[in-house]
Parts: sequence; structure tokens; C-alpha cells
Amino acid sequence: MNFRNFKLPGFVTYGKGSFQKVDEILSHKRVNNLPVIFFVDDFFKNNANFLGTIPLRGNDQVIFIDVTHEPKTTYVDELKDSLTAQFGEVSGIVGIGGGSVLDITKAVSLMMKNPGSSADYQGWDLVKYAGVYKMGIPSISGTGAEVSRTCVLTGPTRKLGMNSDFTPFDQILLDPLLLKTVPEQQRFYTGMDCYIHCIESLNGTYLNAFSRMYGEKALDLCEEIFLHKDEWDDDSDEKLMMASYAGGMSIAYSQVGVAHAVSYGLSYLLGTKHGIGNCIVFDKLAHYYPDGVLKFKEMISKNKIEIPKNLTQSLTEDQFNKMISISLGMEPLWENAIGKNWKSTIDHKTLRELYGQF
Ligand code: NAD
Ligand code: ZN
Repeated sequence: MNFRNFKLPGFVTYGKGSFQKVDEILSHKRVNNLPVIFFVDDFFKNNANFLGTIPLRGNDQVIFIDVTHEPKTTYVDELKDSLTAQFGEVSGIVGIGGGSVLDITKAVSLMMKNPGSSADYQGWDLVKYAGVYKMGIPSISGTGAEVSRTCVLTGPTRKLGMNSDFTPFDQILLDPLLLKTVPEQQRFYTGMDCYIHCIESLNGTYLNAFSRMYGEKALDLCEEIFLHKDEWDDDSDEKLMMASYAGGMSIAYSQVGVAHAVSYGLSYLLGTKHGIGNCIVFDKLAHYYPDGVLKFKEMISKNKIEIPKNLTQSLTEDQFNKMISISLGMEPLWENAIGKNWKSTIDHKTLRELYGQF
């Protein structure tokens, strides 16, 4: 029996307006006047009101993070090099943003204490030393990156996280007020990442009572806000924030499944973003997740979302092969989704047919 022993974030603060507590929390974490660096999603660049609430002290600095593309190992290495060149060491890094900024924050924190390139650590338990202090503050919810023990990076040869016990945040702060400005479409795609985490966990062979408890609750919350509510309101933001957390906890003790295994290929080859890529794939997975896909289609229609089409029509066979090989490499995801004998039903041909439908 493979009992997991997984590391969680060290401290959790929750509540509307809790962002005000950041200064106090950091006051115990500042080391020898070394600065705290705030990695802030560049959406906030022109939001002087919000920027004015970031508690800068001494040499603290805000660095805006470009999230046009999903996090790359090259970007993580550049950020680390520039921090080292400018400050030598830092007291810690606070990330404010979505899954992209949260993952970059985790990765740069680790790279401040581990030699080489972040690409060297893509995999399981390759990180050797704890990073600098890191705090994660989501400003869009769904990915569960706030609770996970990975930070997903696209590297020279693969898209894979730095999975380790050193990766979870030392502190997370969940303030639903930060979600207010998220545009509807983006909220839907990132919110569906959470919904899909729950479906994949609840229908997986790795399911257990621990995962089920979080997965069922997160699924209920997603259905309530995306399907049964007529208007999006503050309460919906609170529920989505907690759904993201619980969805992340659910997969921590199980695994994701087919949509993730397939969308990783799309995202590696075409740069399709995680939330939207999962939706494009999940829409075609009725064979694997009949009930989940049915409800998903209801949510699509209720929220008036157009899933992008014709992504793979003009790809070459070489490109299909690349996506298929990325996807087949996600072994634990397939094993969770289908079972130990997954290779008897999931092969090159199955995946070629599936990728051809997007
Ligand atoms: P994202 O971080 O790329 O953000 C999506 C968009 O929302 C961006 O344009 C951003 O600028 C904008 N945004 C963020 N906060 C906003 C706000 N308050 N108001 C308005 N706009 C705002 O997207 P995401 O879906 O949160 O994260 C996707 C990333 O997360 C991917 O890189 C994926 O690989 C990663 N991920 C990580 C994990 C993990 O466990 N570490 C799990 C799932 C996904
Ligand atoms: Zn996901």
C-alpha cells in the first residue's frame, strides 16, 4: 500500500479583507533587513489603489509578472538571476495572482536556494533544499495551486512541475475580495479547472475517503455557483475560493485524469492555457466521464461560453505524435483514470482520434 505523506502549506489565513494582515504576517519573517519581493500579476500594473495596499518596507520591491504564457523554466531562471544580482539574498517572496504567478513564486523561492536551472528539478522529489520564505495570495481561483506540492513549468523538453515537500507555500492568504475584478470568461475557465479536478478525482481509481470528502464538497460548490445561481455575487467569489482549495486538497491525495493528461499535450505544443485547454478536452470526454461532461455542457450553456474549436485541424502528424507522447508520459494520471491496465485501452490510436477532435 502506498500511503502518501504529503506536505501542506504552513499557515492559512482566510477572509474578506484579510489582505490587510500581510504586513503583520511578514513582520515575523523579515531577516536582517533583506527585502521581501512581491511578484504581482501584471493585471494589477495600473491599479494604483491596489498597489498602494501592498505593505512595502525598506528595500522591498514589487516585480510585475508577465502571464501571457504559462510559466517557463527560462523565465523562472531569469527572475532568480535578477534577484540574486540585485539583492544577493531576500527575506522571502510573496506571489499575488493566479496559478501562473503562484507557481512562479514557488519556483523562484526554491531556486534561490538550489543550484542550477529550474529545468533540472522538473520531476518528483528532485529539489534538495528548502527555498526562501514564500507566501501565496490567489487573485483568481480554481487551480488549487495555493495548496499543491507542485509548480508547473514548461521546460526545454517537457511540461512538468517541481514536485517536492519543499514546494508548498509557507503561508497562504485567501481574500475573496481580490477576485472581484476577474472577467467572467476567465473566471469560468479557471473555475472549470477546479470542477474538472473534482470529476477526475471522484471518478479515479485512486479515490479514497480523504479525497472524496474534499472533492464532493468542491464539486457541490462549483455546481452551485456555475449552475444554480442566477447572478454572480460576493458569496460566489467566496465559494469559488474555497472550492479551489478543497479541489486542490482532493487531488493531493488522489490524482487528476484524462482531461489533464490530454490537455498537457495541447498546452506543450500550442501553448493553450491550462483552464481553457482542460475545457476544450473535457468537452469531448463523455465516454470517460458521462455525468461530469453532461453537467459541464449545462454550465457552458448557462454561462454562455464558446469553447474554441479547430485547434488541431492543420497540424502535421509529427505534431500529433509530440502531443501523444507528452500525454502517454503522464502515467499516474492514466493509471488513476483507467486503472493499472490502462495501456490496454489507451494507446497511440486512441489518442490520435481524440486529439483530432479539438
Ligand atoms: P493565470 O494565472 O494565467 O491567470 C489568468 C488570467 O487572469 C491572467 O490574464 C491574469 O492576468 C488574470 N487575473 C488574475 N487575477 C486577476 C484579477 N483579480 N482580476 C482580473 N484578472 C486577473 O491562470 P490560472 O488559470 O489561475 O492558472 C493557470 C496556471 O496554473 C497554469 O500555468 C497551470 O499550469 C497552473 N496550475 C498549477 C497547478 C498547481 O498545482 N501548481 C494546478 C493547476 C494549474
Ligand atoms: Zn488543473
